[in-house]
Amino acid sequence: MLTQQYQDNIDTLLKKIQEAEAIVVGGAAGMSEAIGHSFYHTDENFLKHFGKFADKYGIKNLFEGFYYRFSTREERWAFLATEIKFLHDAEAGRPYLDLLQLLQGKNYFIVTTNQDAQFSKTFPDDKISPIQGDMRYFQCGSRCHDQVYFNKEQVENMYENIDGTRIPTELIPLCPKCGQEMEPWVRSYVFLEGSSYRNELRKYNEFLIKNKDKKILFLELGVGTMTPMFIKEPFWNMTYKWPDAYYITINPKDALLPRELKDKGLAIHENIAVVLQDALNKKEKRDVDG
Ligand SMILES: [Zn+2]
Repeated sequence: MLTQQYQDNIDTLLKKIQEAEAIVVGGAAGMSEAIGHSFYHTDENFLKHFGKFADKYGIKNLFEGFYYRFSTREERWAFLATEIKFLHDAEAGRPYLDLLQLLQGKNYFIVTTNQDAQFSKTFPDDKISPIQGDMRYFQCGSRCHDQVYFNKEQVENMYENIDGTRIPTELIPLCPKCGQEMEPWVRSYVFLEGSSYRNELRKYNEFLIKNKDKKILFLELGVGTMTPMFIKEPFWNMTYKWPDAYYITINPKDALLPRELKDKGLAIHENIAVVLQDALNKKEKRDVDG
């Protein structure tokens, strides 16, 4: 980790952040993994909160649980209530706080496909756009009307009334307008792309338009290869087209720099949490040393 190449990468990252007149951060699943509780792996934390679902259904992670075909709605909602309560309760992870420090005083905006609200817990609303929804909100499963509902209290109540791996039927969340079942407001085949969704896109686009001719840094954190169309490909395209843009991707697995961007970008194949922490330590040391 302490190779010269690694140190050079940290220096470039700090220099590009410092020089940038605008920074667009794209955060995806790799950021969630970096905080140690992941959607995609069975770990101690998963078993602590979801052990009974792991035992009974063989569910190995949050991702599997979300798509698991429970045989009853009461069991599905018991799992969802447990998951959503866990996301409400989780504190902002260290990589998010480190990123906040690194961006301090800069003109920046964050776009994220994550639905776990970690960015929302760390950054002000006007500086972030969750474009794939947010588990902390419900929508009508039939999309009968354009509204999303903050679900903390309802989820707490569902969670407290879980019996084994079921919630009571009367606690299944229903749409106040049409009576159909609610759904978490996240990307799915019923995802509500209504006013809340459009508002998130609007904030992001306004930032891009306002800053496109400036010295702009695209900083991609943990975007995988499964859904490149939301963050990765737009970042590549904008970096390629805009005169003073630069692209940095940090990802232990999927950091990829297209040949067309070899003079306008950098791929750092390292653990995101470690890179952010090392960068912040170096920055703070420099600030102290003057
Ligand atoms: Zn409805």
